[in-house]
Amino acid sequence: MAVVSRCSRAATAATTANATTATTFAYLIRSLSPFSSSSSSSTFDPQNDLNNRNKPAVLGTLKRESKGRNVQWVFLGCPGVGKGTYASRLSNLLGVPHISTGDLVRDELASSGPLSSQLKEIVTQGKLVSDEIIIDLLSKRLEAGEAKGESGFILDGFPRTVRQAEILEGVTDIDLVINLKLREEALLAKCLGRRICSECGGNYNVACIDIKAENGRPGMYMAPLPPPPQCASKLITRPDDTEEVVKQRLRIYQAMTRPVEDFYRSRGKLLEFDLPGGIPESWPKLLCALNLEDREDKQSAAA
Ligand code: ADP
Repeated sequence: MAVVSRCSRAATAATTANATTATTFAYLIRSLSPFSSSSSSSTFDPQNDLNNRNKPAVLGTLKRESKGRNVQWVFLGCPGVGKGTYASRLSNLLGVPHISTGDLVRDELASSGPLSSQLKEIVTQGKLVSDEIIIDLLSKRLEAGEAKGESGFILDGFPRTVRQAEILEGVTDIDLVINLKLREEALLAKCLGRRICSECGGNYNVACIDIKAENGRPGMYMAPLPPPPQCASKLITRPDDTEEVVKQRLRIYQAMTRPVEDFYRSRGKLLEFDLPGGIPESWPKLLCALNLEDREDKQSAAA
């Protein structure tokens, strides 16, 4: 995908980290000592705020202070909100790796390595893996990426606890945290409708979400996301996408991850983004909120 950034290089960072990513994350592994935990955020409601008046200051900073490294962004949001979908699109657009700690956990599970059975039990109960294990997996992934010349990242699913956020903040400078929000009634349906191609890993959804307007609240429609023909016969469901486990994951999100929103809000890094619907409505508005433009999307729309 081609990208033109209207904020010159929104894809570059506000500040330069003092350490390289490799040393940073070697440190990250070592820094697993107990931390203590720690409000100005910006809400971008695409339906009411197309003038972008409420963007966090960090977007302006990114525009002014390009220091020549790639973005270090984080996606927050409840299970089923679409973190993976939008993180992956932005990763293609900006040319930085999309690193999903959920994918790292599933890869570890599939590898039948020493952690596999322990992880299986935790994940299928909808619980969080320990900070130590998740940071170890993430550190290894970042180090492998750096060895291949990767720089910058879009993290999806990390940090998920205040302790993880403190550790990350202690070792590198996160530029922006995008907090995706979706109406609660859609989250469960989206998790239950999720399908994954066992071959290419593509994410699809069979759910058709059609919430009628009620008591002054607008309706919302999200069309299913069908797989291409080559994936249609290879679809699988995640074992933790059952109703009981999704509800448990939503509860854990409220208890453990909501405070992470406050952590970044108080540091002026949080961009709240209310998803107005499915990808066709949400993607252009997210780009607008980020001062980015997807030239390829525009060209195909104009064709
Ligand atoms: P979700 O759809 O709930 O956002 P993910 O795909 O991000 O799920 O993660 C799947 C599972 O992997 C989680 O339920 C949890 O068990 C584990 N996991 C992923 N990231 C983390 C993390 N940062 N800390 C602890 N556990 C994690």
